[in-house]
Amino acid sequence: MNLLFAATELSPYAKTGGLADVLAALPAALRQRGHSVACVLPLFRSIRETLPELRLTDLILSVPLGAGLQSARIWEGRTDRDVRVFLVEKEEFFDRTYLYGPPTGDYTDNASRFFFFSKIVPLLARHIRPTPQILHLHDWHTGLVPAFVRSERLPFRTAFTIHNLAYQGNFWGLDFPLTNLPTAYFSPAGIEFHQHINCLKAAIVFADRLTTVSPRYAEEIQTPEFGCGLSDVLRERRYKLSGILNGADYSRWDPGRDPVLPAPYSASNPAAKQLSKDRLAKQVGWEPFQAPLFCVISRLTEQKGIPLVLDAAGELQKEGGRLVVLGEGDPGLEERVRDLARSFPESVAAQIGFDEAFAHLLMAGSDFLLMPSLFEPCGLTQLYALRYGTLPIARETGGLADTIVPWDAATGLGTGFLFRAPTANSFSEAVRKAKAVYQDPSSLQAMRREAMRQEFSWEQSAESYEEIYRRLIE
Ligand code: ADP
Repeated sequence: MNLLFAATELSPYAKTGGLADVLAALPAALRQRGHSVACVLPLFRSIRETLPELRLTDLILSVPLGAGLQSARIWEGRTDRDVRVFLVEKEEFFDRTYLYGPPTGDYTDNASRFFFFSKIVPLLARHIRPTPQILHLHDWHTGLVPAFVRSERLPFRTAFTIHNLAYQGNFWGLDFPLTNLPTAYFSPAGIEFHQHINCLKAAIVFADRLTTVSPRYAEEIQTPEFGCGLSDVLRERRYKLSGILNGADYSRWDPGRDPVLPAPYSASNPAAKQLSKDRLAKQVGWEPFQAPLFCVISRLTEQKGIPLVLDAAGELQKEGGRLVVLGEGDPGLEERVRDLARSFPESVAAQIGFDEAFAHLLMAGSDFLLMPSLFEPCGLTQLYALRYGTLPIARETGGLADTIVPWDAATGLGTGFLFRAPTANSFSEAVRKAKAVYQDPSSLQAMRREAMRQEFSWEQSAESYEEIYRRLIE
């Protein structure tokens, strides 16, 4: 099959979260299975600076954007996994420090930026060879593509993946002329949602198939609690919606061959995990210690349950427990995390920022990963944690519920600790269980071994997507 992926993130060239990891891995896995796969992204500054051997093609594509006509030059390159990637060059839109906007908020011209990109995608698809049969689109930035394909009756089938329903690309109705769609599209049956343009809704309505990144999340988003206002729209279209778990990228996340670690370790040879803990302690300014070490590696947002971590900080530190937080995001939460580390320098450390290498060391050196997310479409961090023998303590929601086997007091088995109510109390309860297991080395080792043997391969996900494409083409 001939497939074109369109998105705004691709690890390691442009990344703010898990979407980038999916774009790095899934096209590569599909290519391995014999399909012809290409990706298209905006030529963001970070991509221009990091993707090697970019080549300018002779394609110049022009699309209407409101009253004017806008053009883009198309560059071509290959990812480190040897996947072909097209880059849409538009300096005034994409040659910026951030992908979507600075920490203080979104860029004010995001409607123009991503409507433009969404218009270029189907046009590019008509020019590249082999001609794609399927456009596989990801998150709201490409949400209008299915509407453009429908309105222009283009010969492509569209699959759209929701990586996070909370980000919908909402713009006021006055931006509608920028879409150049027939006015009938600005209606409740189309892309309008409460007098606004809603890019995600556009995709839900017009894509031929919808997927999201875990079976549990596919169910949850059809309920008012998790539907972010779109539960009815989704429920009406559940016939075309399914959940496919993301895989973990074990070529980048494997303690057996992770160049960042002082020594490799694995399920059959776990002892050297301790060396990572010692190295980590040194790096944050502590002497080596024997006590449970909890970590957070996350965007610092409400979604990720960071307020719960802050509220449970006392519980975490009891009996010598320590916490290291790596993250960036909401400025208020960043400040609260910094404050906590300043108040308890001997047991809490914080690194505010995005640091891939430190994320690996932290993953290896910690005993437990905290992920008390209010919702979690799939979550990749917990998959990596499992492979590193770092037991997740997580809320029972979305992909966390689908990938973590909760510790069972009767058998002592499980791969992590789950709690249900999004409260500091029920989170603290899970922390206490984890600490009890930590005190019993043989139970801890048994859980670690089981966690490290879990397998969430991209092979399996790629096979499920393949099935979806095949049915679309038929
Ligand atoms: P989301 O996509 O919602 O942010 P995921 O768990 O799916 O969450 O993916 C997060 C990815 O980003 C993981 O690869 C994780 O290691 C990485 N990550 C998050 N925050 C940081 C950070 N501050 N520094 C380095 N890596 C980070």
